[in-house]
Amino acid sequence: LLGPDGTVAATIFAEMTALANHTGAVNLGQGFPDVEGPDHVKDAAVAALREGPNQYAPGAGVPELCEAVAAHQKRHYGLAVDPTSEVLVTVGATEAIAASILALAGPGDEVLTLEPFYDSYAATIALTGATHRTVALRPSEAGFHLDPGDVAAAFTERTRVLLLNSPHNPTGTVLSREELTLLAEQAIAHDVTVVTDEVYEHLTYGAEHVPVATLPGMAERTLTISSAGKTLSFTGWKVGWLHGPAELVTAVRTVKQFLTYVGPGALQKAVAHALADDDGRTAAYVSDLRDSLRERRDFLLGALRDVGFAPFVPEGTYFLVADAAPLGFDDAVALCREMPERAGVVAIPITAFCTAGSELSRTLRSWVRFTYVKSPAVLERAAAGLQRLR
Ligand code: PMP
Ligand code: GLN
Repeated sequence: LLGPDGTVAATIFAEMTALANHTGAVNLGQGFPDVEGPDHVKDAAVAALREGPNQYAPGAGVPELCEAVAAHQKRHYGLAVDPTSEVLVTVGATEAIAASILALAGPGDEVLTLEPFYDSYAATIALTGATHRTVALRPSEAGFHLDPGDVAAAFTERTRVLLLNSPHNPTGTVLSREELTLLAEQAIAHDVTVVTDEVYEHLTYGAEHVPVATLPGMAERTLTISSAGKTLSFTGWKVGWLHGPAELVTAVRTVKQFLTYVGPGALQKAVAHALADDDGRTAAYVSDLRDSLRERRDFLLGALRDVGFAPFVPEGTYFLVADAAPLGFDDAVALCREMPERAGVVAIPITAFCTAGSELSRTLRSWVRFTYVKSPAVLERAAAGLQRLR
């Protein structure tokens, strides 16, 4: 977590957003919407703040949100979740991930993630003293895929936790049922607990999102994580949750109480209102968001292809990744340093999501992650700027 000179490293997102603010470049680095979330959810937050109570929320989260999470999992995936013992509300998915890994892994254990991986995974695993192992999502003509041989080789007798993520940040891949089954079979064979980060569960463009907890034998060993940030476009509210078997949730809650104790109750109530969705407004909002993200994805894909990048078509998330090699850039880190000045665009080299020096980081050396969760006018400005890379 410390840089070579002992300074505390900033996250890649904080660094890139600072660069965008400093240069005035379009920020296609950090994934957050540049518009507000829906009014009906904001109104619910205002009402909850006014009504109170505004003191500490219950340790597991406000009951309305625990119930709404359980009902959501039943409605969308047919999962049976007990709202009183099997749900924990957290300060964003980030805390759910951290508390889970801290609860489950320690020195001598291995935690397995996909590679590339979301940045907080490596940092959190380092905090536990466990060893971080990865299984590569390998690029092919058809997109990023898991290789069955890699999956089998990645599990060892020390593997304690498989920390999964689908839809996947940064590649935009949605793992297929077959790929998830490969992972699930190994998790069962090695008696591994699965922690699955599904924050982009509703942001898919045709591919089916399969929660790993719905596969045979998995509900009893899986903690499923999601967050209001992505589904409702309130990334700043930091309302997340997880659910799973009561013993696992209790273990995570034990850790969570010493991280943040609890999060803001009024925001939890507003998210409960949104998830319960008695009037269908949330479903309509999410459906429109998905459609508009698909359009924005397609616009950015076109702009990048036009300049000479070779992008993959992502099936979900806020992100796409593109190879800059056809454009003559074989080092994405150098390109991302140059792009703000030359093209007025900030993006992130995909190696920021890889283990330093790994085989995959060499394969993906010239790859860049762009977010398209920005307004059409902003994406148009980016597209015009990118032309200057030709
Ligand atoms: N997991 C993934 C894959 C993410 O992309 C993000 C951030 N957008 C998070 C977790 C963090 O979510 P939150 O803001 O709810 O903590
Ligand atoms: N999840 C966002 C991304 O991948 C960033 C969130 C953060 O900055 N921690 O861009």
